[in-house]
Amino acid sequence: MDVQDRILKLRKTIELNAYKYYVEDNPILEDWEYDKLFRELKELEEKNPHLITPDSPTQRVGGISEKFNQVPHKNRLYSLDNSNNDEELKQWYNRVLKDVGEIENNQLSLLGANYSDIELVAELKIDGLAVSLTYEKGKFIQGLTRGDGVIGEDITNNLKAIKAIPLKLFEDVDVEVRGEIYMPITSFEKLNQIQIKNGQKPFANPRNAAAGSLRQLDPKITASRDLSIFIYGAIFDKSQKKLTHSDAMDKCRALGFKTNDYKKCKNIDEVIKFCSDMSEYRKTLNWATDGVVIKVNSIPKQNELGFTSRAPKWATAFKFPPEEVWSELLDVEFSVGRTGIVTPVAILRPVNLSGSVVSRASMYNFDEIERLDISIGDEALIKKAAEIIPKVVRTRKTNNSKPLILPKNCPSCGSELIEIEGEVGIYCPNKENCPAQIKGRIEYFVSKSAMDIDGFGDSIIEKLIEKNYIKSPSDIYKLTYEQLLTLDLIKDKSANNLLNAIEQSKDVTLSKFINALGIRFVGKESSDILAQSFKDIEALKLASYDDLSALDGIGEKMAQSIVDYFSNQKNIDMIDEMIALGVKIKNKYSNAQVLRLKGQSFVITGTLETLSRDEAQAKLKELGAKTPSSVSKNTNFVVVGENPGSKAIKARELGIKILSEKELIEIINGGLNV
Ligand code: NAD
Repeated sequence: MDVQDRILKLRKTIELNAYKYYVEDNPILEDWEYDKLFRELKELEEKNPHLITPDSPTQRVGGISEKFNQVPHKNRLYSLDNSNNDEELKQWYNRVLKDVGEIENNQLSLLGANYSDIELVAELKIDGLAVSLTYEKGKFIQGLTRGDGVIGEDITNNLKAIKAIPLKLFEDVDVEVRGEIYMPITSFEKLNQIQIKNGQKPFANPRNAAAGSLRQLDPKITASRDLSIFIYGAIFDKSQKKLTHSDAMDKCRALGFKTNDYKKCKNIDEVIKFCSDMSEYRKTLNWATDGVVIKVNSIPKQNELGFTSRAPKWATAFKFPPEEVWSELLDVEFSVGRTGIVTPVAILRPVNLSGSVVSRASMYNFDEIERLDISIGDEALIKKAAEIIPKVVRTRKTNNSKPLILPKNCPSCGSELIEIEGEVGIYCPNKENCPAQIKGRIEYFVSKSAMDIDGFGDSIIEKLIEKNYIKSPSDIYKLTYEQLLTLDLIKDKSANNLLNAIEQSKDVTLSKFINALGIRFVGKESSDILAQSFKDIEALKLASYDDLSALDGIGEKMAQSIVDYFSNQKNIDMIDEMIALGVKIKNKYSNAQVLRLKGQSFVITGTLETLSRDEAQAKLKELGAKTPSSVSKNTNFVVVGENPGSKAIKARELGIKILSEKELIEIINGGLNV
């Protein structure tokens, strides 16, 4: 294929996909796949400038739908050019220096300044949908999508439904601001669950969910979706004119807009450091960001640098490396967990994903295998789910694809697998004797948030089960030195260390002990709630379904599971046996004089100076408070440390009381009442 044909083919594919993405909010390609095609086209056009035409996607911005009123923008909106690595960032910076240098060469040398005096501003790139909002005398007048940059879609009424958009500013100014509408990740996940439940297609990512929710003809649908905005640009009228982007952002914040934090950088090395810091930090945020935007801070210099047909020359977007990658599905393993549930695990050709090598990925359950249409030998797209566990997103058939045969028997003990009514998934019913289930329970029992016994590696647990020394967690307290030495894995010293660790674990808090039991649906947080509500394990044994389900944080399913657990005599015997073998369960909550903070909920954001976040949360919990990780309307206080995240903004939005670390400590020490 010659270059011209390739260019035409690329344009056609890009246009089709841009339409699906911008107009229908329903992309077929992953973003990085689209970016790869776009980049190829750009490079071919750069090498063959005579083939560039004004209608090429490289010369244009976005797209517009017919379903809304189309309104010309007063000031054009642009896209951003990308820098994909440090080298490209430096190249962009050199171009800026050169261009500004050419403009200012004489003045700079007269002043004795050098080019690196050009200040940059770096801020996170919000992965959402661009809008421009016009305010006259402080009143919100009109809101448009970016559209094709020249003409936007009028979505004023839908935008009025978004609480973070002020309808009236704190001052009566005329200003046009630009911002990005986004949907918090947790709200996106909830929305997708509802979409699936209603038989509708889930949204591909939070950006598409935000765009799909905003570009609705019925503003009521927009209002029912959780959307927010960050303002990242402003054009003030002459009387308010600002000289730097950072000043403009500070003014926006003072006017009542929600803006994102920015970092002023003296040179490109500081920008590179910021991008590298952000690539980790962003994983803690509840909104999607796909990179960092770097801008020349001085607005007069921005004006001098100007624009290409598509993007400003004074800004660039550093894109984080893709969090998705294609691999080959070599096999599927079926692993049996502590509750007997059988989980399919994809075995992959090892690939690098966000800095770590991935060779296994979760597929959750058998329904997922069907949904993903999995065959051995497929190509599989892998993504980091919740940024931690890799999962298979979708597959493509290859010539080597062979059907996957689903197991009928437990891969560990051979029992026939069963389905449980009302539950998704396939189970091994052999609770007592299935080695994989016993192993899962022991692993959980010894883990940090349970009995916290150091020294039980995978192979030691397997050997102990194989030799029949351990069948239930209480058997751990009967292990002898001689038994440990017969494993051929442990020598004298480590056998003693392990026995010491077992001995030490006998002093345990009620909350950790409940967690260690591995009751279905009861995790670390719920164990804590139970320990706060029951004096000791005896009281919990006797709790009724009504007692349990009345507790804040204990749902009906969990309550039933707890009742079922304690109505099984074998479990009661196991607990009694552990106590007889010397396990002493103390309830730290009943020692606290009064649960002064019962019913109060504290969220901590940013770094605290004198306490670690874990310490602060532990102290609050001891006094009966809850310490969830995200802010909601049920939060009573948000404690703000240094470099707080978006939680502080959300707290302000919801009118939640904000506390300093000093105030928190006073509350903990009883000096300040809540
Ligand atoms: P872009 O999203 O890469 O960058 C430009 C936009 O960034 C601006 O319009 C602005 O809205 C936004 N932005 C966010 N934070 C900002 C900040 N702090 N300062 C300034 N701007 C900020 O460019 P684009 O033209 O909107 O879209 C291109 C992107 O869309 C590409 O990443 C591409 O992968 C994706 N896309 C995907 C498909 C697909 O089929 N999957 C199709 C078309 C486009």
